[in-house]
Amino acid sequence: MSTLIGTKTTPSVSEPPLVLVIEDDRTTRMLLRRAMEKEGYRVAEAADGKLGLADYTRLQPDIVLLDAMMPVMDGFTCCEQMQMLGDGERTPVLMITSLDDPQSVDRAFEVGAADYVTKPIHWTVLRQRVRRLIKQAHLYRQMEAANQELQRLASVDGLTGLANRRRFDEILEREWFRLAREREPLSLILCDVDFFKSYNDTYGHIAGDECLQRVAGAISVVVRRAADLVARYGGEEFAVVLPHTDSAGAVHVAEQIRINVAALGIAQGQPRGGAATGNPLVTVSLGVATAIPLPNSTPAVLIASADKALYHAKACGRNRAVLMQ
Ligand code: GH3
Ligand code: MG
Ligand code: MG
Ligand code: MG
Repeated sequence: MSTLIGTKTTPSVSEPPLVLVIEDDRTTRMLLRRAMEKEGYRVAEAADGKLGLADYTRLQPDIVLLDAMMPVMDGFTCCEQMQMLGDGERTPVLMITSLDDPQSVDRAFEVGAADYVTKPIHWTVLRQRVRRLIKQAHLYRQMEAANQELQRLASVDGLTGLANRRRFDEILEREWFRLAREREPLSLILCDVDFFKSYNDTYGHIAGDECLQRVAGAISVVVRRAADLVARYGGEEFAVVLPHTDSAGAVHVAEQIRINVAALGIAQGQPRGGAATGNPLVTVSLGVATAIPLPNSTPAVLIASADKALYHAKACGRNRAVLMQ
């Protein structure tokens, strides 16, 4: 039997921390509940390790106060199993037990307990330790969230929200070696906005940035498979990585991108030096390359091929996709 004081089971920032007390002795359980409630915590109780484990998964407490000697499942086994669950390492377990022989203390830490206190309980010590463990776990979570956010920022292009060059390099290399092992094709599209300098010159840099954002969106909607990657390769250049895609598939995607960008209907800038495309709209040129990666090569050859194809697309009049044969 287990009971929960407090109405919500999902943790939220505004709610006080939830303490899960797993203890077979009724009186001790009640005393622990009182002490924790006095501290302003919410409390849930379980009478043995097995019930405690179920509550642990269901309630996701902020800390566990765990007795060692219990029927059905003892505290050591219970703690060990908690560590194997998803968030196990991040939820501190404080073992409270009358066992204070060296082996039991060692074992408690071996199975993942964050701290250990002995019975009879020294209530002030317990209170301080619980407070410290909750605070540590909270700081740890904050640090993890900050790390994740940093990692995300380090791989995203600030203007377009696409993957940045760093992420592109990483993914291209990873896919190159993966597909070399699988002997499967990898395609790359390099996509460059036509006459973009004159767009900036005509409408200004801010309008230029907005145009790049819209082009990025038009490329992204075409590229849908989970393993595909759209990245901002450089200023007004984008790159699309297409694993398991042969040249026909890649040309199809490139052509869809070309059509989609033109369909944005963005008026082109004033041509400079008579270099007009003959198209009044903002368009892109695309270079496509496909390879079945060789184990001892690098993706630099694929980039060079796509770049060459892009050069041809520009030379042949822009607003087109060219495949490197
Ligand atoms: P082409 O058709 O041969 O590609 O001509 P282009 O004018 O697009 O090529 P060029 O390389 O001469 O110019 C690229 C321009 O893209 C230069 C710069 O003004 C613009 N550009 C690059 N990055 C950004 C950016 O982040 N924001 C804005 N607004 N413009 C950018
Ligand atoms: Mg007991
Ligand atoms: Mg360019
Ligand atoms: Mg350009």
